[in-house]
Amino acid sequence: MSEGLTQAAYIVAALFFILSLAGLSKQESARTGNYFGIAGMAIALIATIFGPDAQGIAWIIVAMVIGGGIGIYYAKRVEMTEMPELVAVLHSFVGLAAVLVGYNSFIDPPAVNLANPAEIHAAHVIHMVEVFLGVFIGAVTFTGSIVAFGKLRGIISSSALNIPHKHKWNLAAILVSTALMIYFVKADGSMFALIVMTLIAFAFGCHLVASIGGADMPVVVSMLNSYSGWAAAAAGFMLANDLLIVTGALVGSSGAILSYIMCKAMNRSFISVIAGGFGQTVSVSSDGEEEGEHREVSAEDVAEMLKDSRSVIITPGYGMAVAQAQYPVHEITEKLRAKGIDVRFGIHPVAGRLPGHMNVLLAEAKVPYDIVLEMDEINEDFPETDTVLVIGANDTVNPAAMEDPNSPIAGMPVLEVWNAKNVIVFKRSMNTGYAGVQNPLFFKENTAMLFGDAKASVDAISKAI
Ligand code: NDP
Repeated sequence: MSEGLTQAAYIVAALFFILSLAGLSKQESARTGNYFGIAGMAIALIATIFGPDAQGIAWIIVAMVIGGGIGIYYAKRVEMTEMPELVAVLHSFVGLAAVLVGYNSFIDPPAVNLANPAEIHAAHVIHMVEVFLGVFIGAVTFTGSIVAFGKLRGIISSSALNIPHKHKWNLAAILVSTALMIYFVKADGSMFALIVMTLIAFAFGCHLVASIGGADMPVVVSMLNSYSGWAAAAAGFMLANDLLIVTGALVGSSGAILSYIMCKAMNRSFISVIAGGFGQTVSVSSDGEEEGEHREVSAEDVAEMLKDSRSVIITPGYGMAVAQAQYPVHEITEKLRAKGIDVRFGIHPVAGRLPGHMNVLLAEAKVPYDIVLEMDEINEDFPETDTVLVIGANDTVNPAAMEDPNSPIAGMPVLEVWNAKNVIVFKRSMNTGYAGVQNPLFFKENTAMLFGDAKASVDAISKAI
């Protein structure tokens, strides 16, 4: 494939990626957006593999078949609830790839075709900076994503790691790395400086993500998504591959915008979260001890209560995903709507374990989009609501966020379900949610607990209706 044709294919692929992002911004067009992304990536791969710079095509194809096979195997097996973990692992691969590309590009720099010695020198300095920054961003992304994976899987505690002087350590890591970069460029490349910086960046990535508490993990996941984009863009600069630069920048900036939107939704400071919890005070009431008496209810009673209601709001959370209760939830929604009862859904921006998790599950179960509302759209309607079904949600409906300034989730806007006439909480025990904070909602007078697996409980209610 000629250079011109390859560049033309890259432009077409970049356009497909932009169309893909546009499609993914709305539920109705998300599937088409995915197809655009697949088409763009297929064009990009063909143009790169058969482009003028590729060597050893047979090896590339063998590697792709092995990697693609492993990818298909895991993607097919992974449960929806494990998706955030898979995403974190994939981000770590992008980070590691950027580190390896950086070392490769340092050991075997690309040939420069400039006539002017001053320009050759400038190009060389730029290349050195690209290598250094690319390896730094890649290394932070690599270890940060591994720690995020551990936190999401429960291997590492979800609470924030608070080592003494943690912000000073972060600042020191950045200052020493900057000094090493200046030395690296002045010394016309130093493997020693590169290795020391890589080790510092590995530790920095671990510490940055470990310092962030459970409730802020959604922002961390989208932030690492953004970092992986910048790591790919850095690799694009090192390889002089325009499409990789464009694609990396698209991922980096959309991830940064998503992180910002999530920070706003959670009333968190963007700078504080990306700087590993900078400026946050350590909370004192983060225990999960019970604080009162709770009331229990049976599935049959809930069915009666629903039949007597005029308006119902369902607020799903991570437990609905675990139980795969979205299908029976759709079933009771249809049954109640057929009786003329107004049923709507209230979705918290960080419900579940990945952005848009609940929307995906409800769309999968064919719940109509127009009754699925965002938290801001529905929060004022709770006082006029007869019954709220909290299905496997906990942190996202926790009044402590508004009532207890010392809570780890203080300040986070939540679904104000307790303002409704009756609240039914579906869960298996009195355990806390992801943030590890006890929920005073369970002990309110108008709240009753329906214990058991959410799918079994909703199935029982559906039968009784
Ligand atoms: P939570 O994690 O706060 O609570 C989920 C509840 O579901 C638990 O209390 C659990 O209680 C219950 N549950 C689990 N399995 C079942 C089951 N089979 N049947 C019935 N109930 C079940 O969920 P939320 O969605 O309210 O909040 C999400 C949390 O995750 C927030 O803290 C958020 O910050 C965090 N997070 C979100 C991400 C995102 O991008 N959305 C990413 C990473 C973290 P029990 O064990 O008693 O059944």
